[in-house]
Amino acid sequence: MTNELKNEEFVLSTRPSDQTEIKSAWKLQSCPMPTITNDNEFIIKTLFVSVDPYLSSGLKKSALGGDTNAIGSVQISGLVGRVIESKNSNIPVDTIVTGRFGWRKYILANGTEPRFRIVQKSTDKNTIYDNIGSSTAIGVLGMPSQTAYYGILSVANTQPSDVLVVSGAAGAVGTITGQIAKKIRGAQKVIGIAGGQKKCDYLVNELGFDAAIDYKEYNTKEKMVNRLKELAPEGITQYFDNTGGFVTDAVFDIIKRHGKIIICGQISTYNNSEEDPSKINIYPNYLAKTIYRGLSILGFVVSDFFDRNEEEFYKDMPVWLNEGTIKFQETFVDGFENLPRAYEMLFTGENIGKVVVRV
Ligand code: NDP
Repeated sequence: MTNELKNEEFVLSTRPSDQTEIKSAWKLQSCPMPTITNDNEFIIKTLFVSVDPYLSSGLKKSALGGDTNAIGSVQISGLVGRVIESKNSNIPVDTIVTGRFGWRKYILANGTEPRFRIVQKSTDKNTIYDNIGSSTAIGVLGMPSQTAYYGILSVANTQPSDVLVVSGAAGAVGTITGQIAKKIRGAQKVIGIAGGQKKCDYLVNELGFDAAIDYKEYNTKEKMVNRLKELAPEGITQYFDNTGGFVTDAVFDIIKRHGKIIICGQISTYNNSEEDPSKINIYPNYLAKTIYRGLSILGFVVSDFFDRNEEEFYKDMPVWLNEGTIKFQETFVDGFENLPRAYEMLFTGENIGKVVVRV
């Protein structure tokens, strides 16, 4: 059957030096259809592919560190697919699976791939995915949501007394971060920072944030400081940073004594080159400012928590989704060929919630 199908893949073709070059970073090319040669193997038809800001660290040398991907190598990210042929008795045809795989329309797998997980078997009845769709395995039931979950519950350890500001608030991580802080931990106030009034309205009216600030309107550090003081006269105790930039500079100047600054992401810097310090936004005296106010700066990476997922995240999040406590949104981009464009959208801010490419 698979003989008649045509396979395609995206390989890295250039290293983008700025945001305008993102779309040409990858090249779409034909590749052979996979064939099963071992007993435990199966073939996956790709259904949904995740694009994530961290992919930038593989495209060129960046402050995030790590190895850059080789030119000509297939791009890898989280994806969801359906098994169309199988010699693995645990993973029969029609099983929906997720894991980290190359950007290919058809993939040969054996279940030992990084973050491999069965999403749903065809015999499974009434699973959460029937209600919310299997694409959520790379979104609200996947890595971005795990980042919010462990970021708030373990790293920030948000308490009812906390006033939390979250930047990048309308994205995959930010939407869930604010909701867990507010609805699960009962933070006294959660303020989201996002680009545009539509996103700000969504955060307050749909997700239950106490307030939101459009950073494109309050577009300098001084304006942001004044708006934050108006909205949080009692003082900010926690800042969950997804973006960096002048918003971070503003919060840093006014966060309360013993405040926590949780560094989850710095997307405003990801398209800069580490080799060019003039392009890196380094706010003077960050570290000196921590001294008299006893501030904590806590960086974290979600992969440090993956071994806790089955016992914690996958027990709690489906319950919160089923009871409607946690809400989510996906921004779908149709067509495998549009993967680079979907990645670009993360930097132009065209998404609300998780960006998912529907193949
Ligand atoms: P999002 O869904 O939030 O998409 C990215 C958003 O970032 C855009 O929608 C845009 O929203 C905003 N943005 C883009 N460029 C800028 C800029 N220059 N200044 C301010 N905002 C900008 O992506 P994710 O939820 O997947 O990721 C959010 C952050 O979390 C990223 O920094 C990512 O690297 C980080 N992350 C960290 C992890 C960890 O383990 N520490 C794991 C996963 C993600 P807007 O319209 O508001 O500008």
